[in-house]
Amino acid sequence: MNAQRDYADLVQRGLSLDLTRGKPSPRQLDLSDDMLRLPTSFRAADGTDTRNYGGLQGLPELRELFAPLVQVPAGQLVVGGNSSLALMHDTIVHALLTPVPGAARRWVEEPKVTFLCPVPGYDRHFTITERFGITMVPVPMNADGPDMDVVERLVATDASVKGMWCVPKYSNPSGVTYSAETVRRLAAMPAAAPDFRIFWDNAYAVHHLTDAPAELADLLALAAEHGNPDRVFVYASTSKVTLAGSGVSFFGSSPANVEWFLYNTSKQSIGPDKVNQLRHVEFLRDPEGVAAHMRRHAELIWPKFELVDRVLAKELGDLGTWSSPVGGYFISLEVPHAGEVVAKAKAAGIALTPAGATHPYGKDPDDRFIRIAPTFPGLDELEQAITGLAVCARLVADEHA
Ligand code: PLP
Repeated sequence: MNAQRDYADLVQRGLSLDLTRGKPSPRQLDLSDDMLRLPTSFRAADGTDTRNYGGLQGLPELRELFAPLVQVPAGQLVVGGNSSLALMHDTIVHALLTPVPGAARRWVEEPKVTFLCPVPGYDRHFTITERFGITMVPVPMNADGPDMDVVERLVATDASVKGMWCVPKYSNPSGVTYSAETVRRLAAMPAAAPDFRIFWDNAYAVHHLTDAPAELADLLALAAEHGNPDRVFVYASTSKVTLAGSGVSFFGSSPANVEWFLYNTSKQSIGPDKVNQLRHVEFLRDPEGVAAHMRRHAELIWPKFELVDRVLAKELGDLGTWSSPVGGYFISLEVPHAGEVVAKAKAAGIALTPAGATHPYGKDPDDRFIRIAPTFPGLDELEQAITGLAVCARLVADEHA
């Protein structure tokens, strides 16, 4: 195959395709159409008028519904607005300005605050920590989660390490689920900082694509068992369950952390959108209802993941390696000179997340990782985009041969 000729053909076609962000497709959003006709009543189970102010922690029935799914007792779960990312952002702001339980002082008073960042990871996590001048230290991801030898050493010896980003299930972008042993070590490891926190972003807790869902150990419970009850901040949302722009988000943690969180939140808001919370309860009903709804998503998404795998195997072969996740929203592709591949794709009308976005400060030292977000385009467009991406990777490999 002549890569140069294939690339010239590709550019000629004047494509305009976008594989940048992990957005649900319109057909996925249609699955929640009926939710927009709810709730049928504005009264919550305890008689609360959801139209009014108040209820900072969120409706108990919604917390009960999601408690088993996000592995947090309902009493320790808080429901937020539509964005869990906003909860993560605000938790960091709160920790900067109000000492977290166990902290000697506010993080803003620390000479240095460091977060461990498993890589490849989620760019928007890194954007938050970068914004607040928090030093980010990359930690390699293995097939069973972050390299725990590195994590344990850094957390035990460096008291500036106050936090760690984790996407423990169907990780963004590699699709990796942390093994039970990785989770146990995260729960048990000694920490030099008494106020060390794991930001457990379980964004893909229920986002299985096959009949063999990944199991994730319960970090919050394990940390308490190992004498570190306040170590874990759990986050999740229904952005990719119901509506990405109009879902509900969750924060869960130890009783002390939840009290701290609600204390801070009470300065921000008189109460969340409980009408939307009730709408979610009526629509999803129970964990089985969530599972049935997620199967409908999987029916739409799984063919896209299969297609990416098939096209890469055919068109790229051993010029790269890629993940084949059984859940979540992303595929991670590793090719040499990723930056050049992404630039060539852009010139051919195929938009990809910038190379390096998977790493803190946008710097992938090996220039290898490209994140593929296959959910939004239709199958035809996706096939064109991945075939085109493979052409770009072959061309770049030729140029460096
Ligand atoms: N966390 C992860 C790991 C994600 O991949 C995403 C979206 O892609 C989010 C959080 C965004 O969550 P939310 O829509 O609840 O803000």
